[in-house]
Amino acid sequence: MTVDGAGKQRTNDPGKTKRVVVVGGGTAGWMTASYLVAAFGERIDVTVVESARVGTIGVGEATFSDIRHFFEFLKLSESDWMPACNATYKLAVRFENWREPGHHFYHPFEQLGSVDGFPLSDWWLRNPTTSRFDKDCFVMASLCDAERSPRYLDGKLIDQGFVEQQRDETTARSTIVEYQGTQFPYAYHFEAALLAKFLTTYSTDRGVRHIVDDVTDVVLDEDGYIGHVQTAEHGRLEGDLFVDCTGFRALLLNKALEEPFVSYQDTLPNDSAVALQVPLDMDREPLRPCTTATAQEAGWIWTIPLISRIGTGYVYSADYTTPEEAERTLREFVGPAAQDVEANHIKMRIGRSRRSWVKNCVGIGLSSGFVEPLESTGIFFIHHAIEQIVKYFPAGRDDHRLRDLYNESIAHVQDGVREFLVLHYVGAKRADNQYWKDTKTRTIPDTLAERIENWKYKVPDAQTVFPHYHGLPPYSYNCILLGTGGIEVRHSPALDMADDRAAIAEFERIRLKAEKLVAELPTQNEYFAAMRAG
Ligand code: FAD
Repeated sequence: MTVDGAGKQRTNDPGKTKRVVVVGGGTAGWMTASYLVAAFGERIDVTVVESARVGTIGVGEATFSDIRHFFEFLKLSESDWMPACNATYKLAVRFENWREPGHHFYHPFEQLGSVDGFPLSDWWLRNPTTSRFDKDCFVMASLCDAERSPRYLDGKLIDQGFVEQQRDETTARSTIVEYQGTQFPYAYHFEAALLAKFLTTYSTDRGVRHIVDDVTDVVLDEDGYIGHVQTAEHGRLEGDLFVDCTGFRALLLNKALEEPFVSYQDTLPNDSAVALQVPLDMDREPLRPCTTATAQEAGWIWTIPLISRIGTGYVYSADYTTPEEAERTLREFVGPAAQDVEANHIKMRIGRSRRSWVKNCVGIGLSSGFVEPLESTGIFFIHHAIEQIVKYFPAGRDDHRLRDLYNESIAHVQDGVREFLVLHYVGAKRADNQYWKDTKTRTIPDTLAERIENWKYKVPDAQTVFPHYHGLPPYSYNCILLGTGGIEVRHSPALDMADDRAAIAEFERIRLKAEKLVAELPTQNEYFAAMRAG
């Protein structure tokens, strides 16, 4: 045992992974450091080095419902971190104009029900109750339209300890249904910079060393492993495991270790974005409980409502518009509120590192991979990666199997999400200009092409979607297929001969439940106004 300059005890046990150096202090760097310290405490030694000169990407504020497990793992309640990050609730992604102007649909965080073994989407195709698939099949779509919070003013969650009596009119039987707190999962919107700041304090309070400096060199040892990184002012930082969180630069993984980058550009052509942070007056403007993705001439615009401001940006393909034109479109879309706001132009690297873990270096965040932010999967990739790195944490350099398993899991997640995003474009009914026409003729992953053929005859289920874990269940594919409307999908022939009374009753139950919740719940504005008033 030795004691370092900071008075901290360190174990000398050659060959064991103990010292972790995280390079980069964006969302990926700080989520990684805080997760590692929550998992291993002071039994490992974590250092984060971040540059004061190179900024973070400055976007990435909408999440996926799994993010709740990240905060739970850190033992943080919503009241611990949400106010510090100007966070709001997100119940869904709202897609506007993907089918035709004026049309919208939701991809909610809510499981799709089934009746007699057939998903509700299938029943809906056979006999649509209304023209809104999302509203007929999910409670959340009505809550989003009415801008409701998922919590009551006393803080109680809609599904917490929720007990409901269901009466089946066909058999006159009543059933008591108790929800376990997972019927309506939700996610968050937050200010990325504030979250990184919050997690910096969380991590350093628990022993993580924080160095603000530039990494100027990555030095390999005789085996080609990273021996140390050289900093401008703090000398060399040695470690057993290096985590590359340097964003699109991927200084360690792609530059120093020369791991190739596999581009997804042929299937997902949006390669640029322009972003604005628009002030918002919460007392006057609605805080929609969803991220909105509004289709545009050469891509789409995201709108993310936070307590303090709206985060918005235009994701586009540089083959179809220019940065100046994209900025003009975004400013027109936002209106006068955008007048004095500076635009952030971003070039995106779409694809993934062939392997994310190479030798003693793991890339997490944008260095590992990125698909455009259409379904807010960037932070989900980070969360998934840090869960896996804990699961496959190496004992030492020889753990090739763990590395391979980790890399397989990361590749599956990113490839699976790519397929899901491509479906949005192939499925979008609009084809009113060259950009949208080309989305129907561009190369798509072979496996997706085959799946789409199947889905024309049978709505997506566990057997026909991407077969490896990638965070997106079959119901998500149902939402996008039926919402975007460009691919003709038919119902199962068996339903023509089936008794549909239970399905009709289920649609009615969803309608009544949505009506009741909309009447009872506060709007998201009312909820956060009450929280702020204490
Ligand atoms: P960065 O934020 O780029 O951080 C890089 C870090 O590396 C910085 O701290 C920098 O100082 C440091 N660094 C770089 N070079 C050096 C050096 N030489 N020495 C020391 N430090 C160095 N994800 C979502 O989940 N939801 C979204 O809504 C979403 N929207 C997005 C919109 C756009 C347009 C883009 C491009 C991405 C979006 N993402 C989104 C992805 C999300 O932004 C990222 O996954 C997330 O911010 C993680 O970024 P990062 O930490 O990997 O990189």
